Amino acid sequence: MTDIPAILEDIAAAMAQETERGRVADYIPELSKVDPSRFGIAVATGDGRVVSAGDAALPFSIQSVSKVFTLSLALGRLGDACWARVGREPSGDPFNSIVQLEADDGIPRNPLINAGAIVVSDILLAERTPEEAVSAILGFVRQAAEDDGIDFDGAVATSESDTGYRNRALAHFMRAAGNLHHDPEETLAVYFRQCAIAMSCEQLAKAGRMFAFAGHTGPGSAELITPARARRVNSLMMTCGHYDGSGEFAFEVGLPGKSGVGGGILAIAPGKASIAVWSPGLNAVGNSRLGTMALELLARKTGWSVFGGM
Ligand code: GLU
Repeated sequence: MTDIPAILEDIAAAMAQETERGRVADYIPELSKVDPSRFGIAVATGDGRVVSAGDAALPFSIQSVSKVFTLSLALGRLGDACWARVGREPSGDPFNSIVQLEADDGIPRNPLINAGAIVVSDILLAERTPEEAVSAILGFVRQAAEDDGIDFDGAVATSESDTGYRNRALAHFMRAAGNLHHDPEETLAVYFRQCAIAMSCEQLAKAGRMFAFAGHTGPGSAELITPARARRVNSLMMTCGHYDGSGEFAFEVGLPGKSGVGGGILAIAPGKASIAVWSPGLNAVGNSRLGTMALELLARKTGWSVFGGM
């Protein structure tokens, strides 16, 4: 039996020794103010337990990790018709590339880069106001995490909007190409707020259980998404979840995962656990430096890599 509490304590102790912690995102002041010495990790297993270490109860800005929840909702609304508007291939370009979008006629490479996630937000906006779409996203995440206290951070959302010129460029280009069905400002009003959702590692690990347990929060519990949808989101996390570091993450960690510039990573060990880590310092490709290291250690100590081995 794997001793998860002891493993997490060991990992947190090892991370506390790290002096090179990466660079905290500074494109908005709210993120640049976060203490780089923070580190938290939480593991939610199928028996309903959540084991954690470090700063696992502190909320952080989940940023692009939100994209896996919105994608799940969009697939529930539109089904396979989503794939006419967004692809399923790794981009090999930075998460906010405009050049690629123009070459691809306004169809983003995948739903986990910004342009793709903006299309997904647009799908969630159909027949709704931005407020209703944001409520639907929050309702879904709260239900998955069994925690009604989860919300978005208004100051982060405002700053995202105030500085979101590149996201506006992507959205307007896609509107011109016919791939956004609403006023770009309305779609972005959803996107900026979903990025600003604040969650702790414990909350995020619980929210991710649906991907680990074929759509359920645990074996025998109610189905939140279909097993097929969970499998598809996992496959996209594996191939596209870590920006330009997705190949390296699959190589070193071997788990589907999604990172965000707030320093959070959600990783999935199918059938075994949903894992959330957070450390605000980022590596050169924008993924949490210590978060990635911690997941490498965890995968090695548990043998959870989907590719087998230790
Ligand atoms: N709000 C950020 C943006 O759209 C999210 C970036 C990220 O976490 O990848 O630029």
